[in-house]
Amino acid sequence: MNEQKVQCRLCEQYFNDEDMSEEHYPAHSVGNDDIIELDLTKFMDTLMGDNPELKEAISAAIKNGEDPKECADKYFDQHLAKDLYPKGRTARTLCRKCNTFLGKYDEAYKKFYSEDGDPKKVKGFQKQTKIQIVKAIFAKFLSIPEAQDIHFDFLDFIRNPEEMEYHGAWKLYFIKRDYSTDLIGLSDIPTGKIDWNGDGKMIVFELSDDKFIFNLCNFEKFPEFEMNDIFDVMEKNYSLVTGIHGNKGSFHEHFVMTRMFKGMK
Ligand SMILES: [Zn+2]
Repeated sequence: MNEQKVQCRLCEQYFNDEDMSEEHYPAHSVGNDDIIELDLTKFMDTLMGDNPELKEAISAAIKNGEDPKECADKYFDQHLAKDLYPKGRTARTLCRKCNTFLGKYDEAYKKFYSEDGDPKKVKGFQKQTKIQIVKAIFAKFLSIPEAQDIHFDFLDFIRNPEEMEYHGAWKLYFIKRDYSTDLIGLSDIPTGKIDWNGDGKMIVFELSDDKFIFNLCNFEKFPEFEMNDIFDVMEKNYSLVTGIHGNKGSFHEHFVMTRMFKGMK
């Protein structure tokens, strides 16, 4: 019986809850410390000038000879941005052994992250480091809450350090963040899942850190979406896609919109 047991998402063995590790996603080293979530409904109201609470606070500030801008900033911190994960995001989805094993891949990703994915630098990485970067990102999708009911076909690819190729159903794309990916420059970084046509056939997951946005999907991205394939980092001609280009659209925008409408219900 496995009632009290938790299954590790990587080795698929069952463990007692206390034998699971508490992993952070994204890792603490890559910007998981100060995550905020915007209260999008309030935020839109505020943008439209329709937030009586804020108006009142500002007129009170002016009356008291305080700086209205300071007041607005304070309001933003206290009422629009809430600490989403005060201790960072954690999940118990991996056993200790697998978590330690993935630590090697995370080290490789950290190199990629600290070089901002810069092709000049990444091209100089060893092949082993590059494949570890690829595997680190695939592995992160094992831990997101929205993917817990999915049996991914890339477990062997991740588990075998020697394996250089993956030809399964899932594609992994990414872009580097810039002003075009984030509302007024604020990067909020939740995870998500979209059922693209509502029929359960085309699934897209998203996770991100404060530099990159990753999408895992069981179909080829639409040609107009400009994104890197994660395997691009292995290639000699790797170049980095930054931001969302013009009107071409992106998975990320759909995630932002979906969340916004959820908040408006
Ligand atoms: Zn395990």
